[in-house]
Amino acid sequence: MKESDYKTQAWVQWCPGCGNYGILTALKKAVAELEIDPKKLVIVGGIGCASRIVYYIRGSNVHAIHGRAIPIATGIKLANPELTVIVCAGDGDILGIGAGHFVALGRRNADVKVFIHDNSVYGLTKGQAGPTLDKGVKLRAMVRANVQDRIDPILLAFVSGYSFIARAYAYHLKELREIMKDAILHKGSAVVDILQPCVTYNDLMTRDWFEQRIYYVEKPLDEKDLVEKSGQKDRIVLGVLYKSQKETLERVVANRKRMENFLNKFEVK
Ligand code: SF4
Repeated sequence: MKESDYKTQAWVQWCPGCGNYGILTALKKAVAELEIDPKKLVIVGGIGCASRIVYYIRGSNVHAIHGRAIPIATGIKLANPELTVIVCAGDGDILGIGAGHFVALGRRNADVKVFIHDNSVYGLTKGQAGPTLDKGVKLRAMVRANVQDRIDPILLAFVSGYSFIARAYAYHLKELREIMKDAILHKGSAVVDILQPCVTYNDLMTRDWFEQRIYYVEKPLDEKDLVEKSGQKDRIVLGVLYKSQKETLERVVANRKRMENFLNKFEVK
């Protein structure tokens, strides 16, 4: 398959220079290289700039409702485990209103991939503070500084039980594509926190700001290093940060069905 096989006719409505373009290109290349049939590819979006990606890549996609992309994606995967199911939504959607569902996916270890377009603002509604913005920061469109502490998506994913955790950068297309491929091939719940500059509303976390801080690790970290490196203030760690093997939700449900069918055979009528 080629990247162009996933192109749609929809007009892309993101601001020029938005990090979402890098995520779209990397995702098209990743699914093309993995030869995923568009009929068997399901991208589930929430609400927000990021979630418009469902119109820009060919697949059996769903534009869901705010914060509810993960449970919809989990239901799709359970109904048909042969599908490749990916959630694409912003930090505001997944870690704000959708945070409970984000935690539940880690606990369940369903084979669903969550790609967070992490720009620390609610771009579609004009630049309010998103869940990954530091307390005390005031961005271009905010009247006052942010009054809430930030959520660290990596640590939240870790304590929730995700079996694949990575962080990537929207303008590093080659590295982002490889991390997306790793996440898709992993069997179980996977999260990729994709740092995505919002050129219109986030005038602090710009391309220069990120590129002065980011660095890659070559291989997944142990639990102690994951916590330590995620907590660094002036450096931002990228790469596949954590991997483990656990039984998936689909396997648990299938085994339970087999056991119920087996027991039913011996039922006295
Ligand atoms: Fe991208 Fe920000 Fe524009 Fe939304 S508002 S399209 S996130 S640059």
